[in-house]
Amino acid sequence: MRVKVISILEDNYMYLVIDEQSKEAIAVDPAVPHRLLEIVNREGVRLTAVLTTHHHWDHARGNDALLKDLPDLRVYGGDDRITGLTHKVTNGQELKFNTINVRCLFTPCHTSGHMCYFLWEDGCPDSPAVFTGDTLFVGGCGKFFEGTAEQMYHNLTKVLGTLPQDTKVFCGHEYTIKNLKFAMLVEPENERVKEKLSWARARDEDDKPTVPSTLLEEFEYNPFLRLSEEDVQKFTGKSDPIEVLRVLRKEKDNFKKPKEHIPPHVMLALEWGMLRPKLT
Ligand SMILES: [Zn+2]
Repeated sequence: MRVKVISILEDNYMYLVIDEQSKEAIAVDPAVPHRLLEIVNREGVRLTAVLTTHHHWDHARGNDALLKDLPDLRVYGGDDRITGLTHKVTNGQELKFNTINVRCLFTPCHTSGHMCYFLWEDGCPDSPAVFTGDTLFVGGCGKFFEGTAEQMYHNLTKVLGTLPQDTKVFCGHEYTIKNLKFAMLVEPENERVKEKLSWARARDEDDKPTVPSTLLEEFEYNPFLRLSEEDVQKFTGKSDPIEVLRVLRKEKDNFKKPKEHIPPHVMLALEWGMLRPKLT
């Protein structure tokens, strides 16, 4: 299984997961369909399925166009609001694409129908992968648009946090630098945060993605996975992990609002409700 990381829009990621044996491929959140199809053609693979993490425009909007080109395409997701949805999945459901296995992990909070996808390959020593959409980011977590701190706590600690530690984390946005700047504020003494931030800055200079990370790494620098750490508790003034998470998310929401003005086409999309204001 090979994962192609494709940067799209302002800071989104879509992914193409290729099964090398069968030359079939699965896309995750293919919001720029023509770019995806170009890559599918260049790689000489056949696109059979789409995994959609959630219904937001910048993740799901490509589904309809792909279905027009590929009427047999199966579009999976956990929310009826997902455009082009053909196969609704539920928590724990497993899908099989040749040697690639997918387990659907229901992670409601950013949206009430958010799904993460855990992928592993039969008879392959490679680490598994998890596609976390807007639930878990490198160094951060998604906004609680349609859910509670209790739900996100469950998602992060019980659902994603219990996956094998070597699982590669492929998230929905490139927010790593901003997330780690916030992590620095929360845990100024954490060396892993400093290291990862300078690494992320170097990647940014080279215009390279910071995905994937691993779950093990996330536990080392991501404050949203470090709710029992003394400094994280001190920063929030709370000790109950759910309360720590609630305060962390609130502080992150208010942390350095973007200075750049919003382009008119994005403003229009915001007004039409096609797009949510972005996490920063
Ligand atoms: Zn979203």
